[in-house]
Amino acid sequence: MTNINFDFKNKNAIVTGGAAGIGFQITQKFLEAGGNVSIWDYSEQALQTAKTEFAKYGAQVHVAQVDVTNRESVAKAASSLPWAVDILVNNAGITRDKSFAKMGPEDWDAVISTNLTGLFNVTKTLLEKFNASSNHKRIINISSVVGLYGNFGQTNYAAAKAGVIGMTKTWGKELGRKGFTSNAIAPGFIMTAMTKAMPKEVLEGMAAKVPVTRLGETEDIANACLFLASEQASYINGTVLSVDGGIVL
Ligand code: NDP
Repeated sequence: MTNINFDFKNKNAIVTGGAAGIGFQITQKFLEAGGNVSIWDYSEQALQTAKTEFAKYGAQVHVAQVDVTNRESVAKAASSLPWAVDILVNNAGITRDKSFAKMGPEDWDAVISTNLTGLFNVTKTLLEKFNASSNHKRIINISSVVGLYGNFGQTNYAAAKAGVIGMTKTWGKELGRKGFTSNAIAPGFIMTAMTKAMPKEVLEGMAAKVPVTRLGETEDIANACLFLASEQASYINGTVLSVDGGIVL
């Protein structure tokens, strides 16, 4: 039996939104597997907390305060990088849920500029910062099941996450010959600090709708992310990996 152990020693990753939730878990898994990670996040305070939590990884950790909607901010963070990039995880994202009838232009603009244009800004800026000689360059975009199937109250979010899938596939076609793979992960409902605070009955009701009878953990997404970033996934390009317990079946 082959036992696959992911080894990211001497690999350099950037995780946007890496100071909280799913991004924090992805960062932790890369660090555990020996990788270097630059955590790009919005809040200075969250970055400081992450730095403290990951202190034992020493120089493996780099942090940069960044607003992915702001190109100057992204350029500044890119210029602070201590190494060339191997792996980019575009994870930062927000929600501004409202029914379409109630959704205002500001709700639309905020979600599109973070969850769609943010990925354009970051990836465009970093393209030249990737390790040119590497044949193991990875772009992993965090989309959502909502981008595949739509969702009540999420016109803005579903549009952005569907757009992420279109970008992912296009980059798969354009960048494949340059040593990149580009893939997306479509998480289902994942437990984060926010969702854990919801009433138990509500969470149980939601879990009952999932064929594997549980909600997702941040670790489920991080595991998928490490797999797509690994050498072993070098022939997987332009795909969307659903990590949702089969909720959409
Ligand atoms: P969290 O809110 O827990 O974490 C997102 C992180 O991104 C936060 O640290 C946030 O900072 C940061 N961020 C937000 N806006 C910006 C910005 N403009 N620039 C830089 N950083 C920013 O979210 P989750 O961990 O739940 O979600 C992570 C990704 O997974 C998102 O793309 C989300 O859409 C996707 N996803 C999540 C699901 C879930 O059930 N949780 C399901 C499907 C997809 P701050 O807190 O300061 O705003």
